[in-house]
Amino acid sequence: MNQSKGNLFILSAPSGAGKSSLYKALIADDAQVKISVSHTTREPRAGEENGREYYFVEVDDFLDMIADDAFFEHAQVFDNYYGTSKKAIFDMLDQGLDVILEIDWQGAKQVRQQYPHAISIFILPPSTEALEHRLRDRGTDSEDVINRRMAKAVSEMSHYNEYDYVIVNDDFQTALVEMSAIFKAMRTQKRIIEQKHSKLINDLLSL
Ligand code: 5GP
Repeated sequence: MNQSKGNLFILSAPSGAGKSSLYKALIADDAQVKISVSHTTREPRAGEENGREYYFVEVDDFLDMIADDAFFEHAQVFDNYYGTSKKAIFDMLDQGLDVILEIDWQGAKQVRQQYPHAISIFILPPSTEALEHRLRDRGTDSEDVINRRMAKAVSEMSHYNEYDYVIVNDDFQTALVEMSAIFKAMRTQKRIIEQKHSKLINDLLSL
């Protein structure tokens, strides 16, 4: 499982930290980076499409997938189930692509245990006010949901210190450059180069 040519990245943040905008900009700019599409039992939000943001499934189907050992990790977040299917990631990693898992701290913990080479990044908002402002700006949820998400955000952020890298998303371009730098630097890890360039290394050493 650890012989992949690509890197597995865990990306976590509280809702409203700007995580989606960041990874979307990174993917648009770097063809080697792909996002894993998770399964969820929550309802699609306006503008979300099945198979693009998530695979939206019924609870029974999700439980069947757990029973079939189809998930790499899964967790209950708020009142819904979320999970990363094994299928969603390993084909891409084997092709040498970098795969982002946009998951919560519970999923991150499971992934680290199974895949110690995973690189984890936590995104923090620049202030509590900015976080609240961003949650309100999204305008897709009721006041009750927003209040609950603010409380959940604090709980999610309390796990930032379990991550390898932390990005404070104050200025978007700066945060994007920081994230991109992490992705690029990780491609030069000896483990990755040995997988990708085994022939070159053999050739060079047999001169
Ligand atoms: P949302 O419903 O706002 O899209 O996501 C809510 C939370 O679920 C976020 O913290 C997000 O990172 C997390 N999440 C999304 N997909 C997965 C997944 O496949 N596994 C886990 N563990 N968490 C996920």
